[in-house]
Amino acid sequence: MKNTSFRRGIKRWHRIYREARMVAMALKSPNHPVLAHAVVTRRCNLACAYCNEFDNFSKPVATDEMLRRIDQLAALGTTVITLTGGEPLLHPDLEQIVARVRSRGVIAIMVTNGYLLTPERIQKLNRAGLDEMQISVDNVEPDDVSKKSLKVLDQKLRMLSEWAEFQVNIHSVIGASSEHPEEALTVARRVIELGLVSSAGIVHDDSGALRPLNDRQREVIEEIESLQKSRFTFAQRNPWRKNLMRGLPNEWHCTAGGRHLYICEDGLVHYCMAQRGYPAIPLSQYKQEDIVRESQARKSCTPYCTIFCVQRVAFLDQLREKPAQAIEQMFPTRDDDGNPRRRPLPVRVLGALFQPSQGAAKSRFFQKAALRILKIE
Ligand code: SF4
Ligand code: SF4
Repeated sequence: MKNTSFRRGIKRWHRIYREARMVAMALKSPNHPVLAHAVVTRRCNLACAYCNEFDNFSKPVATDEMLRRIDQLAALGTTVITLTGGEPLLHPDLEQIVARVRSRGVIAIMVTNGYLLTPERIQKLNRAGLDEMQISVDNVEPDDVSKKSLKVLDQKLRMLSEWAEFQVNIHSVIGASSEHPEEALTVARRVIELGLVSSAGIVHDDSGALRPLNDRQREVIEEIESLQKSRFTFAQRNPWRKNLMRGLPNEWHCTAGGRHLYICEDGLVHYCMAQRGYPAIPLSQYKQEDIVRESQARKSCTPYCTIFCVQRVAFLDQLREKPAQAIEQMFPTRDDDGNPRRRPLPVRVLGALFQPSQGAAKSRFFQKAALRILKIE
């Protein structure tokens, strides 16, 4: 256990460095995908009632083909790849695929329902270099909607707490399953007790659009976030999510198809998990001009979109294009009552780097120094 904690600490700092590099690359250039979701198998061992992303018969994507797709994504300049499904742990060569992602200098994340985790599998994923695992736990007791319950998964979470050297993020989607949203709070408390990371999302329909929340659901999201106030997460600061929680639409530009790619089991590029079928071009034929065209394309589904991973990427573009406005949106200098609020140190550093008001020459000097430290040409 002592060795696991030591290696976890070292890996954490290395991951933070590579995440900073990913952000700096996104701020420097708008012409590469920041994040791709790649399906390794459509098959799942569960059948959640709200899910339209699985079947119970598909074979895993052939390993050679999957490795080719990773290489193609890396060649396009992709900085983060999330392996998804169906259930990725059903792929017999998942660790080899994770290792290929890392060998191409890309951050490796996977999504799983956790059912198939064992200490041996976790250690294999450690050795492959996995950076982050995301699991969603929908309720405390399994019900007809979802079997991803704390009761079933608690032993898997304990296993992860003991063995995982990668970051483990447990996600509760409010409105997905239980009639009792406070169950998500029970899940979050247990997750934090085990030293893992907890986050809360908003349920959406098949097209990615918001299903309105009631007052209690809203309160639960806020309570979950207050449990981890000291930890910075995009979800907590996401200005678009604040509107959605109140049932209001947003004005933002979705760059899916360019900055975010969803690669289905057939190797086609789609905007996201909810908007499949656009542009549906094979990844092997996807070019720079496709990335630029689709990044710029207007999507009619933006106002009520709850796909936060794509919003996170879009926010980086906003930060590149209008840094002062984006920083103010995420870290307002005044609270709701109009009182001055001090920004966290890393945000002040970011402001100094990207706000020319600090002096153009000085700002350029610090930008160059930062890019050199992060090994970005
Ligand atoms: S575990 Fe995930 S992929 Fe499988 S049915 Fe449930 S939500 Fe869908
Ligand atoms: S706005 Fe973008 S991320 Fe959201 S559903 Fe539409 S295409 Fe997907």
